[in-house]
Amino acid sequence: MPDKPIYLDYAATTPLDPEVLAAMQPYFALEFGNPASVHRYGQAAEQAVERARETVAGQLHAEADEIVFTGGGTEANNLAIRGAALAARAATGANHLVATPVEHPSVLETCRQLADHLGFELTLLPVDEFGQVQPQAVLQALRPTTAVVSIICASNEVGTLQPIAQIAAVLRGRGVVFHTDAVQAAGPMALDVEALGIDLLTIGAHKFYGPKGAGALVVRRGTRLLPTQTGGAHEHGLRAGTPNVAYIVGLAEALHRAGAARPARVAHCRRLRDRLIREVLERIPDAHLTGHPDQRLPNHASFVFDGVNGHDLLTHLDVAGFACSSGSACKTGDPRPSEGLLAMGIDPDRALGSLRVTVGAPTTDAEVDRFLDALPQAVARLRALELV
Ligand SMILES: *Cc1c(COP(=O)(O)O)cnc(C)c1O
Repeated sequence: MPDKPIYLDYAATTPLDPEVLAAMQPYFALEFGNPASVHRYGQAAEQAVERARETVAGQLHAEADEIVFTGGGTEANNLAIRGAALAARAATGANHLVATPVEHPSVLETCRQLADHLGFELTLLPVDEFGQVQPQAVLQALRPTTAVVSIICASNEVGTLQPIAQIAAVLRGRGVVFHTDAVQAAGPMALDVEALGIDLLTIGAHKFYGPKGAGALVVRRGTRLLPTQTGGAHEHGLRAGTPNVAYIVGLAEALHRAGAARPARVAHCRRLRDRLIREVLERIPDAHLTGHPDQRLPNHASFVFDGVNGHDLLTHLDVAGFACSSGSACKTGDPRPSEGLLAMGIDPDRALGSLRVTVGAPTTDAEVDRFLDALPQAVARLRALELV
């Protein structure tokens, strides 16, 4: 067994790039000013935040004043959905939300809270066997009272990409705010909010070799949004609180580096992912790919294995020296089958046997080789146990 477990869970989080850490370092103790202060300490911190804002805007083809820094992807999703829902209702009385069953919990649970406790109505769209939403289904779900449509850009669970630009085209001119959770997409994919035609877009730094606890929401000009955290004029009045300067600098540096490294990283990950998918399906009987066969994140492989409990498989793999996931870090340990997999029409028993294997820039062929040797044994052993 290798000393250090082999990490194949880059969709859960990525290690901080040492160059990103170096860029963050001065802003902890040396340049410690509060960006809101008038004096020179404050000015230096403010300049760092505004430079970061320009960088992030440039990477996403937005304007600098459209970037709101948050304490991560979850917070940005909460601001997007709750903020847009409450603003729409205050302005027009609109009270209908549309999302998908394959959203991250930070979107789904926010929608559910609005529906269960705050008088909103929620429609969850149908998805096909790959977890994809058809633009036509979005159109059919719309009501005169629809306030917000939120559709994940790339699934954390099964890697499937959604036709965001086509859905935006369907929604254009209807007065509905369109949000996408692009936390998994940012990094592997070049994102252009203009080309996507999106009103609100979420990213989170720790999925692209930046720090945890740093994210951003792109708020296109003219999008109605109420702050969900009040208390000051920070971040254009949309996110009160002294900005986390070092982490904002880290987010921008990581996104910039993700842009520069994208072609090489994507080619590297795609090759390893294709090997993983091909060989897992070849070597393991009754194994099925989940998510779309090719419209999926370049670093993402996900499966279900008949007759295997996914949680037991993860434990087994951990002991054998491999760090994987069942599809969503937030669901690990939960014995119920994933709502997303069920929505794709996967049988509940089969959905319990899910495994997500996600690779990253540091992943090597040797690591994939070892994993491909270990996995069939682990699955076979668990299947033998289940039968007694
Ligand atoms: C990780 C993730 C989030 C949450 O982001 P945090 O920065 O960890 O709060 C939201 N959506 C998706 C799709 C994710 O993968």
